[in-house]
Amino acid sequence: MSGHEEEFVAEAFKTNWIAPLGPNVDGFENDLAKYNNIKHVAALSSGTAAIHLALILLGIKENDEVLVSTFTFSATINPIIYQKAIPILIESEADTWNMSPKFLEEAIIDRLSKDKKPKAILLVHLYGMPAKMQEIMEISEKYDIPIIEDAAEALGSKYDNKALGTFGELGIFSFNGNKIITTSGGGALVSDNKEYIDEARFLATQARDNAPHYQHSHIGYNYRMSNVCAGIGRGQMMVIDKRVQQRRAMYDYYNECFSQIEGISLLEEPSEHFFSNRWLTTILVNKEKTNGITREEIRLKLEEENIESRPLWKPMHLQPIFSVYPYYGDSLSDKLFEDGLCLPSGSNLNDDNLTRISKALDSILS
Ligand SMILES: *Cc1c(COP(=O)(O)O)cnc(C)c1O
Repeated sequence: MSGHEEEFVAEAFKTNWIAPLGPNVDGFENDLAKYNNIKHVAALSSGTAAIHLALILLGIKENDEVLVSTFTFSATINPIIYQKAIPILIESEADTWNMSPKFLEEAIIDRLSKDKKPKAILLVHLYGMPAKMQEIMEISEKYDIPIIEDAAEALGSKYDNKALGTFGELGIFSFNGNKIITTSGGGALVSDNKEYIDEARFLATQARDNAPHYQHSHIGYNYRMSNVCAGIGRGQMMVIDKRVQQRRAMYDYYNECFSQIEGISLLEEPSEHFFSNRWLTTILVNKEKTNGITREEIRLKLEEENIESRPLWKPMHLQPIFSVYPYYGDSLSDKLFEDGLCLPSGSNLNDDNLTRISKALDSILS
């Protein structure tokens, strides 16, 4: 917390704006619009809700195909299933760990040859690292398939100095408890297209027609953010730049720790076009070079020291519930899942914590 959240929340109580919507929701939406340089924002109950609405706005229906990153958290892909649509899983490339432009185009060509034109590209900026947006935008234009950006982990990240989430037709953010800023739970849908965001607000408040009584001609959802949660968000937006700095400093610290250790690599920004918020610092363990020490041994040894770390996301094509869907790739993310580890990266880690972690890593690996 920044210390300012309670002022906004107290204001909500003082003015009795406890209901969904209210001045904090408007204020938080404005903060997000300004910060990301995007015209329209709808604050919602979660990032997952934002993805669901994005799919609905693009008209995704039963049996439609959606091209989606396989290397992600399940919340990216679940809303495709809510719509009874079909996820077409696309493997990552090694430079950013995000959707591979090569496999994306291969998949599109193959789907077209089967007379199934995919309706949308749902790409993820995992761990805050920007996907290869220029290449993916070119493919999106060439085949006329709109993009939804899942920037749940990437608030504060940029590609070519432009905020992630603002390249596609629609973008989404998450403010769940584990993200770089939080509203305890929440999300946002963003777009430069006013019609999308107006429609999203309508659908997110039970799709009530303009009438004095309760009248409905669409299926609605209860997906809006509450004015209390948005108050937390406004306090958090006061420190977003500081949080990005802290996370990037953490990456630099770990990078320095591992500079003398063989067999551990960090994910670098591939060029000056990429600016990551470094939501989490992640490493890959090459056991050929660590005297046989594996990712899992490192994780368990850290756990013995009461230091929590986690494997990278398990890709969707390896998940029991999603493995039935078409997959295009070379199994790169199988390898990332096997060898990758997320290190402690919270904004509240102090110097003593970091020293303890680096000493533990040093003794495991040397
Ligand atoms: C957290 C997350 C989501 C979902 O956001 P919620 O606010 O938790 O619903 C979606 N995609 C990715 C990549 C995430 O990390």
